Amino acid sequence: MHKEFLMGNAAIARGAIAAGLNLVSGYPGTPSTEVLETSAKCSSGSMYVEWSVNEKAAMELAAGAAYCGARTMVTMKQVGLNVASDPLMSLAYIGVKGGMVVLVADDPGPISSQTEQDTRTFAAFSKLPCFDPSSVQEAYDMIGEAFELSEKYHTPVLFRPTTRVCHGYASITVKDEDEYKTNKPEGFVRDPSKWVIFPRLSYNAHINIEARNVTLSEELSSYSRNLIIPEKAEGCRKGIATHGISYTYVTEALRDKSAPRVMKVTTPFPFPEKAALAFLDGLDEVLCIEELDPVIERELTYICGKHGLNVKIRGKLTHDVKNAGENTCGSVAGNIAAFMGWEMPGKTEAEAAPALPVRPPVLCAGCPHRASFFAVKEAMKGRKAVFCGDIGCYTLGNAMPLDMVDTCLCMGAGVNITQGIGHIEPDTVCFAFVGDSTFFASAITGAVNAVYNQADMTLVILDNSTTAMTGHQPHPGTGRTVMGEIVEKIDITAVLHGIGVKTVETVNPLDLGKAVETVKRVASEKGVKAIIFKSPCAVIIKPEKPAVIDPEKCTNCKKCIKSLGCPGIVIKDGHAAIENSLCTGCGLCSQVCPFGAISVKEGK
Ligand code: SF4
Ligand code: SF4
Repeated sequence: MHKEFLMGNAAIARGAIAAGLNLVSGYPGTPSTEVLETSAKCSSGSMYVEWSVNEKAAMELAAGAAYCGARTMVTMKQVGLNVASDPLMSLAYIGVKGGMVVLVADDPGPISSQTEQDTRTFAAFSKLPCFDPSSVQEAYDMIGEAFELSEKYHTPVLFRPTTRVCHGYASITVKDEDEYKTNKPEGFVRDPSKWVIFPRLSYNAHINIEARNVTLSEELSSYSRNLIIPEKAEGCRKGIATHGISYTYVTEALRDKSAPRVMKVTTPFPFPEKAALAFLDGLDEVLCIEELDPVIERELTYICGKHGLNVKIRGKLTHDVKNAGENTCGSVAGNIAAFMGWEMPGKTEAEAAPALPVRPPVLCAGCPHRASFFAVKEAMKGRKAVFCGDIGCYTLGNAMPLDMVDTCLCMGAGVNITQGIGHIEPDTVCFAFVGDSTFFASAITGAVNAVYNQADMTLVILDNSTTAMTGHQPHPGTGRTVMGEIVEKIDITAVLHGIGVKTVETVNPLDLGKAVETVKRVASEKGVKAIIFKSPCAVIIKPEKPAVIDPEKCTNCKKCIKSLGCPGIVIKDGHAAIENSLCTGCGLCSQVCPFGAISVKEGK
């Protein structure tokens, strides 16, 4: 054993490798991404690691390997689980042979997601055991225990850290390499009565799952990480039930205080009912401090009803704590003080800090997506058009002054939403914007649907040759894998032609005149057509020399600022000026200035 300073996601990967991991697959998504990236970096060569095209593919791949007896992990963020839910729900019935951990990182806040969904609730829905780590060290230690449980009960298990565990850093105790377990998969053993799902098999499996979860609830009641502190109620008849990172906030708020009693629920499903009964014994009132759903609150309320206990359970459902967003040390201290009738705590140093200026999320200076949106906007001036966006950096095209995202639902949805609008409003010119990684992940089926059902729409692929939003991961169009292998690129144009899209034009959006002309021409065609705006992400290329504004020519009309919103142009002393530290010299503004006042010179 030795100490290392690790990020939570790195600790999870390292803990899984120490537990004998054979295969990891996943799809990038904050806050989960670094788990797979660390696995790839630490792979000794005997472990297989891949970024799959989406979470469903990743789940099925990991399941196949687990059928062979491999220890597998599949990684994703909470909304990714929606994509992977189809195989997961069936896999819960079929089961696995090797240990399989489904790592789903939740995002209270939400900080970088479209929903605040709670994977603990998904655990109950899918009837799968769930582990909820409260610290970096616990995440490292517990992932091995998750594999053990998975193998013991032949079931996939969910492991759901939240952002503050995933992205927190701590000095933790980790195993030396000679302490690592190794797992030699037995291989796939043919058994259609086990691996082929049928209604009759599922009926029996359902019975077995329900019985297993009763057994698991018993077993997990004595799991050492389902803590009750102190073990016996000592005078105080109030208790706090909590979980995950909120447990550390509770511990902080109760430092130097002997009351109240605390229960940390580490396995929210199956709920450790016996442990909960021991916790409730001698209490009159319990405050549940949770992030996301009131999972513990509902379970404790149910247990009190079932066992006729006269304990008042408080929390989100009783409006004693807020029912959305993240908890903080301060918010938890306030909740506990109100519950206990203590004096309200003063503001912590962090909360008392002066508010930072509001910095709305914007596309980076020199981002080619800005040029793409601007080109479509210019081309559609005076036309009735709808712009369906998608999930990625380009969602930021909604910000002023571009204002080019009318809808955004979930990954790949824009392609289908635009078809729905087109069928109801045939006089509207319909555009769907999608990134290159998203195209492969979930937009291809929408494009097939459009062709098959004769939609009238323009698919705009914003191809910046990377998965930029989650940290520049490779994808099938980049020609390399997470392990650095060079592979055949999958050509988006060829895919589109292959599914029957006849018009597919590729244009550099930074060549503004040509881009506008291409949009006008292509969008005027009937049926499904595509434009690929191809230009690399501004973050992965070396910037050119910054643009220069000629004060003799500049009339200070500010069109460059008002129409583009590039952070590289600012107002200094009342005049448009280039911010040299940000400008990448992309040249877009020089094509927008009506007076030819902006120039760019090539060269670094
Ligand atoms: S050249 Fe103009 S549009 Fe491009 S990054 Fe610089 S300021 Fe922004
Ligand atoms: S668009 Fe041209 S003329 Fe107008 S403020 Fe910008 S640089 Fe000056």
